[in-house]
Amino acid sequence: MDKGTISGAREAVLGVDIGATKMMAVVYDRDYNKLGVSRKRSRDKKINDSEDRILTVIQEALRDAGNPVIAGIGVGAPGPLDPHTGVIIDTPNLGWKHYPLADVLAHSFGIPVTVDNDVNVGTYGEWCATDLRHCRHVVGVFPGTGIGGGILIDGKILHGFSGAAGEVGHMTVLPGGPYCGCGKQGCLEAVASRIAIAREVAALAAREDAPFILEKCGTDLNEIRSGILARAIEAGETKVEGVVRQAAYYIGMALGNLINVLSPEAVVLGGGLVEAMEALFLEEVNRGVKDHAMPFLRKNVQIRAARLGDEAVTRGAAHLIEQYLQAM
Ligand SMILES: [Zn+2]
Repeated sequence: MDKGTISGAREAVLGVDIGATKMMAVVYDRDYNKLGVSRKRSRDKKINDSEDRILTVIQEALRDAGNPVIAGIGVGAPGPLDPHTGVIIDTPNLGWKHYPLADVLAHSFGIPVTVDNDVNVGTYGEWCATDLRHCRHVVGVFPGTGIGGGILIDGKILHGFSGAAGEVGHMTVLPGGPYCGCGKQGCLEAVASRIAIAREVAALAAREDAPFILEKCGTDLNEIRSGILARAIEAGETKVEGVVRQAAYYIGMALGNLINVLSPEAVVLGGGLVEAMEALFLEEVNRGVKDHAMPFLRKNVQIRAARLGDEAVTRGAAHLIEQYLQAM
C-alpha cells in the first residue's frame, strides 16, 4: 500500500471483534471517534457462513459510517492463532481450522489487516484508551464463558515463543480439580469461569438451595448468566454469593502468581461477571492477590475494572492496525 495515502488527508480505520457468540465492527476516525458500528451474532459452525458474517458486519459498519476510505482493519479473534500470519489455528465455535483470516480480509478489502487474540486486543484497548496508558506493564483478565488473559510488557503484547502467551485461564490453581475444556484438570477456567460458576449454582438450584435461580432459570447452565447471578445475590441467596466469591478469589490467586512473576503496575478485570458484580469481584480478587503475591511485588499495583465495556476489543484492534500502518 502507498504510504502517501495513509499519512495524507486520512481515512478511517476499522476495529473488528470476533467473539465466540457475537461479532462487532466499528469504524473510527483518526482521533478514535466512532463513525459507524455493526453487530451480529456469530454462532455458525460452517466456515463459509462465519466468513460471510464477518464480511457483512464489516460492510454494514462501513455503510453506517457513510463509506469513508479505510486505511486498514484490525481484528481481535478467539485463539489460538498466529499473530504474525493472522492464521486462526482452531476455533470450533466458528468452524475454523488453520483459517487464514488476515489474508481473507486483506484480499476482500484490498487493505492491510492485523489479527491478534481478542483478549490481548481487549487489554491493549483498555491500555490505549484509558489512563492505564501511563503504565508500562499491564495484565488483563476477562472472566466470561472462559477466562482470557492479555499481558502487556513495556506497552507491547506478550506473544511468547508459540504466539499464544497469556492463557491465564489455563493456569493450574487446583491440582486434580474439575476438568477444563483444554483437557487438563484444575485450570482457573474450570473453577472460576461463568460456566464453572453456573455449574455449581445449578447444583444449588437443583437442591433448592437457590430458589431465586430455580424460579428464574431452572438448572440450565446457559441461562445462569452474570446478570441473573447478580440479582440472585441482591435477593439474598448467600450460597450463590459464596460460589461467586470463591471463583473471584481463585482469579485473585492466579493474579497473585502473575504479579510475582511479571510485576505489572496495573491489573484490569473485564467481562460480564465483573461488569455485573464489580465490587464483590474486586474485593475477592484483592483478597486472593494479598494471600498469594509477595508484599513488595503487590505494593502499589492498581487492580481495577475495565472501563470500555464491549468496545475494548474494537478499540484495541483499531490502535493495533494504526500502529502497523505507521510502521509500514
Ligand atoms: Zn484448561
